[in-house]
Amino acid sequence: MIEIAPEHLAHMRQHGERDYPFECCGLLLGRFDNNGTKIAAETYPISNAREEEAKRNRFLIRPEELMCGEKYAREKGFDVVGFYHSHPDDRAVPSKYDLDHAWPTYSYIVVSVEKGQAVDLRSWQMESDRSRFNEEEIAETSRASVRQC
Ligand SMILES: [Zn+2]
Repeated sequence: MIEIAPEHLAHMRQHGERDYPFECCGLLLGRFDNNGTKIAAETYPISNAREEEAKRNRFLIRPEELMCGEKYAREKGFDVVGFYHSHPDDRAVPSKYDLDHAWPTYSYIVVSVEKGQAVDLRSWQMESDRSRFNEEEIAETSRASVRQC
């Protein structure tokens, strides 16, 4: 399960709409709690590193951008708890490419953007043997305790 405040869900939808017809991507920063729930405290938008023609259907985060995001997270006392990206004119379901480029433990949020409008947003977590994604519950809430650190 991942806990996210409604305003951050809105940010991801807006980012997907802004970058349409290309894919957007970004990081989810926050904390892992003891029972494996992820508590997202912030979204961290980053650009899409792919060439123009490939931007429509696959996302890649450049290592320097990831490092930059991780540095920002550390400074704020957060961890990277997941990633988000959009699927322009496609379902909010991870692709085979997404599965091949994912890691266990993290949340993968996919925003479906149809004709420039964000119509669906779902979160996924990889099976520990990397064979598939399982849908993960999104709890629309914000925990004040996240911001203490
Ligand atoms: Zn994808």
